[in-house]
Amino acid sequence: MAGLTLIEGGHVVTMDAAGAELARGHVAIRGGRIVAVGPGPAPSDMRDAAARRYDATGTLVTPGLINTHHHLYQWLTRGWAQDSILFDWLVALYPTWSRITADTVGAGAAGAMATLARSGCTTVGDHHYIFPAGSGDILGSIVHEAGELGLRLHATRGSMDLGASQGGLPPDFAVETTADALQASEDAVRAFHDPSFDAMVRVAIAPCSPFSVTTDLLRESAPLARELGVRLHTHGSETVEEAAFCAERFGMGPTEYLESVGWLGDDVWMAHCVHLSDADIAKFAATGTGVAHCPSSNARLAAGIAPLRPMLDAGVPVGLGVDGAASNEDGTLGSEIRQAALMSRLRDGATAMPVRDALRVATMGGAKVLGREDEIGSLEAGKLADLVLWDLTAVEHAGIADPVAALGLGSLPTVKLMLVQGEEVVTDGRLARADEQVIAGRVGDAAARLAEA
Ligand SMILES: [Zn+2]
Repeated sequence: MAGLTLIEGGHVVTMDAAGAELARGHVAIRGGRIVAVGPGPAPSDMRDAAARRYDATGTLVTPGLINTHHHLYQWLTRGWAQDSILFDWLVALYPTWSRITADTVGAGAAGAMATLARSGCTTVGDHHYIFPAGSGDILGSIVHEAGELGLRLHATRGSMDLGASQGGLPPDFAVETTADALQASEDAVRAFHDPSFDAMVRVAIAPCSPFSVTTDLLRESAPLARELGVRLHTHGSETVEEAAFCAERFGMGPTEYLESVGWLGDDVWMAHCVHLSDADIAKFAATGTGVAHCPSSNARLAAGIAPLRPMLDAGVPVGLGVDGAASNEDGTLGSEIRQAALMSRLRDGATAMPVRDALRVATMGGAKVLGREDEIGSLEAGKLADLVLWDLTAVEHAGIADPVAALGLGSLPTVKLMLVQGEEVVTDGRLARADEQVIAGRVGDAAARLAEA
């Protein structure tokens, strides 16, 4: 039993297929993987042999939360364009975003990921799509920062190649050529993508959105990703303005358009999907196309309320996303569980989103969206040991009737312990491997430099 880690005494929510929950259960970990999950204390031979033991009394134990959509660099532009819809907000921010460098992005990514980690996120999906000329190795910088904190990363190599002079939304100075974007996407996959079971870094290819990339870039990205064995990601059906853009330019809705360029499939996930028709939802379900649901960002930009319950009922894979912090200054993933539950109820009624369903979206849903449902997303023997112990002993949660409601309806509990692949990433609410004051200082400096430039 060398190297055995035991967690005992917490309310363990496994998120397995049966929805098993174990009051005062145990989780045993060895070699970065879960080897046993069960009721009560661990068997005595395990207890005698354990090298590390954690007392989880008074905590809720869940799988690590999985973020399926973010723009980490936007940590540097929180608080801008506070009262705008998406298109006005983007136009206000593009010029500043066009001055980022690998150095400033690294600082922003550290701040964004520190906040994600402290809110129970073990796997970070990022969508980076602005690569100014001469800005250095931006993706390398993001990969480095995730490694420093100990988080699992799904980086995407995004792109924009449809500038304003061609009818796109971004200014010409913010875009790349189609050929450069395709080549850089392939280079990023070859540099950073790890297909192995316990990969800490994977890469997907992610042209930004229908109104910022050419049809050629979308059409050519799909076979490129499939040839390289990686997933595809983009924004879709976020706003009524995007739908109007697609109607005018392509004569069809966003889902039909993305379908026409080969972008529906079980290797594709799209952020937002607020304005899906019933027919669109049926297409997503039939093809296994995934969705990153970002309720706080959708509210901040007044984009609308995504049809979470109808998507789940149809069998669409759905995960949660914080989205970039410029449209969600909160930046915590744990609180998106509550946001998803509340907004789904506003749209479809009081029974539309029980907290356990919302937690499942945040865990197994995200794992499915990222193509990792065999590796992460639930607490089951054989899976990677990515998990969170939420402290429910403080005054906010003491005495609550249901520990899962504490997380899904109450204020976000402190993360008492978060393990990624069995290693400590957050301990007693603080980063275990990095100095948060140092990160805060770097964020402040980089944001100031960006604002001044
Ligand atoms: Zn986004």
